[in-house]
Amino acid sequence: MEIRHPILTTLAAAMMLGGCASTATRLPTISEPALRAESILQENKALATQAAHSERLLRIGRRVMLANATLCPKSRRDLGVLIHSEETYPKELRIAARRQLGAGEKPSIFRVAPDSPAARAGLERGDVILIDGLPVAPGSKALREAMEADQLELTVTRNAQQLTVTVEPETVCHSRLRLRPSAAINAFANGRNITVTTGMMEFTESDDELAMIIGHELAHNTMGHIRKVVGNLILSGFATRYTRPFELESDYVGLYYMVRAGFDPDGVEAFWRRLADVDPRSVNRAKTHPTFPDRYLRIAAARDEINDKMANGAALIPNFKDPNFRDKETDG
Ligand SMILES: [Zn+2]
Repeated sequence: MEIRHPILTTLAAAMMLGGCASTATRLPTISEPALRAESILQENKALATQAAHSERLLRIGRRVMLANATLCPKSRRDLGVLIHSEETYPKELRIAARRQLGAGEKPSIFRVAPDSPAARAGLERGDVILIDGLPVAPGSKALREAMEADQLELTVTRNAQQLTVTVEPETVCHSRLRLRPSAAINAFANGRNITVTTGMMEFTESDDELAMIIGHELAHNTMGHIRKVVGNLILSGFATRYTRPFELESDYVGLYYMVRAGFDPDGVEAFWRRLADVDPRSVNRAKTHPTFPDRYLRIAAARDEINDKMANGAALIPNFKDPNFRDKETDG
């Protein structure tokens, strides 16, 4: 921020010259060791919180990606692991990441999703996966290629011992999940990735609600919204990323995605009433997004449609206008 007011400018100059501004009161004193200990405590606590969020995002998100692999136009192979190293973390937090999360120079397994190929193969936190003698880093091309096989033997280092494990990779939707440290309650899709803020992770009261949010963002990617909106942007000069019908479509398709993954849609529409509590001015602001009441009612209606299908043993597939829709679309 730039200080423009002349008085503030003078004050700022005085502060810089004097080292510290003189206060009118005597401040309580604290000790250096107490300050250092509190710094370590806050960094550790913050990293543990982030790690818990990324674990939950992996656990819930992976279920949504796996259950909808046949509906998603693009897919990828997956083991269900998060790999990290010091470099995964911002520079200021690397020492803390080493201390608190066990991040090292070599990329190693940070999280194993439950019921995943990695979990079934007995892979553990701290394991270093080797391909051609090299540790596999996040997003490794070598691992991506190796995962095309139905079954693959991985060389793993665990506590300085080398072992071989057999894994059977699974096919999941192409989108990848990311966590963004931010207090804003938000989530985004860009055609390839799904980003969820820590604010959203905290705001979602249940795993069902989080699955609904992930389903919504996944639908933006799978339904080709990103490409369509880029088209709209060029044609009409809209300043927004998505338009209203696409938001409603993502709510609708996303609800199918979450139910197909085994999550319970009953009551998830309450998310919009709670969001109204913390953001009352947005309840009826409808420039770019549908209003909260609109979304609340349509999600409840979609849930009734899904419950009817389940009661009748019908396939849990959204009502496409064109039954061949999936074959024509690509994401991104
Ligand atoms: Zn959206």
